[in-house]
Amino acid sequence: MAEQDKGMFGFDKNPSNILPKKYTLNSKIKFKCHPGVSCFTACCGNINIILTPFDILRLRKYLNLPAAEFLLRFTTPMFIEKTDMPGVKIHLDENGRCPFVTEAGCTIYPERPSACRYYPVGMANFHEGGEEGIDSERFFFLVKESHCKGHEEDKEWTIREWREDQGVDLCDEMNREWLEIVMRRKSFGFQASLSEQAKKMFFMVSTDLDKFREFIFTSSFLDIYEIGQETLDKIKEDDIALLRFSYKYLASSLFGTKDLKIRDEKIKAKAAELNEKRSHKESEAVEIYEELKAERDRMAAELKEKNK
Ligand code: SF4
Ligand code: SF4
Repeated sequence: MAEQDKGMFGFDKNPSNILPKKYTLNSKIKFKCHPGVSCFTACCGNINIILTPFDILRLRKYLNLPAAEFLLRFTTPMFIEKTDMPGVKIHLDENGRCPFVTEAGCTIYPERPSACRYYPVGMANFHEGGEEGIDSERFFFLVKESHCKGHEEDKEWTIREWREDQGVDLCDEMNREWLEIVMRRKSFGFQASLSEQAKKMFFMVSTDLDKFREFIFTSSFLDIYEIGQETLDKIKEDDIALLRFSYKYLASSLFGTKDLKIRDEKIKAKAAELNEKRSHKESEAVEIYEELKAERDRMAAELKEKNK
């Protein structure tokens, strides 16, 4: 089987598997995946399962691992498709299988990644993104791959019921702001690439909340940003609060949104630094101009002397 994206970032490596029909929450589909299907776990190999920050958080908690250890053992770094944003996907074993799959099925099923929950129902505006938000003109599409026998089952339900059953709404809610950041970046194309420092920061914040928390409380972060005590108390203890805060920080630092407030004295200091740099550059330019003028006057005087 060719490598596929079983994911929230679409199935566009195999567009021919997407049925040419728009589905709404009330549209009905026939589908059921269960241990009795002949293809059971066939889709748990040769796939790219991109992990969102929320996926990483819930998985490493389920496995009772610090983020750094989880990342090292179970993920591979990659660039999120069509962006220069570094992220991670599940690291497949030497047979190209997901490390969490057994003959009995998924061993992390209650906390499986968002991408595994969405399949085979994709949400169209995850592709489109945009300023209007993820709920605008939301519609769905169905992926029907020949090896997936779940489509031959009799179980009928609406897209809404299917999504409820898969626990997709919580994923949507927790992933939404992060996906909007990715989509916003994607819309820039590759013309303006992120600095190396911005890439490292994006990776750290998106994959390792332990490190992000340490960064907030032990670096000059709080000298730069004005964060209320209530928020600080929450993000110190509560991972979900920290996750939500991380999205605000990413949007603010990458796109200059007003989600976080930079301290006034820092803005003034930065403006003074820029002014200082500008006046230094201006003095340099004046010096160069004066030197050139003096040289030109000297040459003109020499020429005049010769022609006498
Ligand atoms: S996480 Fe679970 S459902 Fe997803 S690919 Fe791995 S085994 Fe399959
Ligand atoms: S029915 Fe489809 S989703 Fe379920 S195991 Fe088979 S291929 Fe995977």
